[in-house]
Amino acid sequence: MIGLEYDSDVVLNGRFYYQGKFQDLSVSVSQGIITRIGKFLKAERIVHLPHAVLPASTDTHVHFRDPGETDKEDFRSGTTSAIYGGTTTVFDMPNNRVPVTDYEAFESKLSAISGKAYADFGLYSLFTGSNKDLLDKRTSGLKIFMGGSTNAAAIGDLDMVATDFLRNYENPVVFHAEDASCLSAHSMEEHDCRDHNMARPIECEQKAIEKAVSFRLKKGVIAHLSFPYDIQTNYLFEVTPHHLLLNDESVNDQWGKVNPPLRDRGTQEKLLALFLAGKFSLLTSDHAPHSYENKEDFEHAASGIIGVETRIPLMLSLVKRKILSMDLFLKTACSNPAALFGLRKGMLQVGYSADFMCVDFSSEKPIDQDRLHSKVTVTPFNGYSAIFPSDVVMRGETVLEKYELIEDHLGRFISNDRK
Ligand SMILES: [Zn+2]
Repeated sequence: MIGLEYDSDVVLNGRFYYQGKFQDLSVSVSQGIITRIGKFLKAERIVHLPHAVLPASTDTHVHFRDPGETDKEDFRSGTTSAIYGGTTTVFDMPNNRVPVTDYEAFESKLSAISGKAYADFGLYSLFTGSNKDLLDKRTSGLKIFMGGSTNAAAIGDLDMVATDFLRNYENPVVFHAEDASCLSAHSMEEHDCRDHNMARPIECEQKAIEKAVSFRLKKGVIAHLSFPYDIQTNYLFEVTPHHLLLNDESVNDQWGKVNPPLRDRGTQEKLLALFLAGKFSLLTSDHAPHSYENKEDFEHAASGIIGVETRIPLMLSLVKRKILSMDLFLKTACSNPAALFGLRKGMLQVGYSADFMCVDFSSEKPIDQDRLHSKVTVTPFNGYSAIFPSDVVMRGETVLEKYELIEDHLGRFISNDRK
């Protein structure tokens, strides 16, 4: 009975980043979960992982536009992009063409995207202020728009019932923090990214953040912080590669139009400095694709930048150049985002999902947007240095091999009902 000797489905051998350094290790995996970490572990099936092996990433803020706007993206193209970018888990925002505000919309979204995802995924619902009894139990968290954005009207003043409900809500509540009345007071004709920055100034963002923080939620998250802001709060802050690395001088055209806007160079550099000092918990893409028609001219262009595929590669380039520490990268891109949703992912640890990315740090090269996997791949990061993972492993199985997606492994829906 040879099987008795082996308790794992597969052993992954490789040079893993573990306890602060790279080490040659064997990692046993059973049913997708890490069961042992050691040296020379045995199994019937042994897979050698190339290059440097890191935990795979979770992106807690993407807009895959499915259903409703699948000309911009769908769950297949979105999760393909995620895997190519070292991300095995995504949380998708609810501002679909039909916003996900109740269980019917949730169910129809889930059935529309079923069988399409290569990455694991959770789904947010949109909180309107009056739909607390209509939210699907499987929802991962709530999204609140303090100012209007694509397919989402701004939330009005919240009444006591809504505020009480949110205060007792156990899952993440993510705020798009731009104050609606402040935005309309500054509204103007816009021709470039500087105009967009003036039309949606920092004061509108700050005002909305302070209001969101004043709700004193258990798990409040401020999405895509665009300026250096140090405020005493238990809320977590997301930052995106575009606010960290781009500004309204480095990008000028409509493909850099995003909410909140790219700020001026000085603001961007200070935001980056705070991030590198470890002030923010979550690195997300806010992947927000649009069609060419939506981006025809600046004034009428929809706001949003793609990023689910380039988020990790851009950061790995900063890690290689020792601008960003490996430990801070792993926290903000891998372990913190998973922990926010109580997922055992994003760490090399027994009991955690065997999700990894293999990184050849000598493979740094400029991003070629024509090689990305979104439906519309125009990005202001075209030409920026990046390091794409060569291989990606999900639950112990290789899903990207030598820079090619293996299409026979599907992601799973992460239902919040599992608890
Ligand atoms: Zn967003």
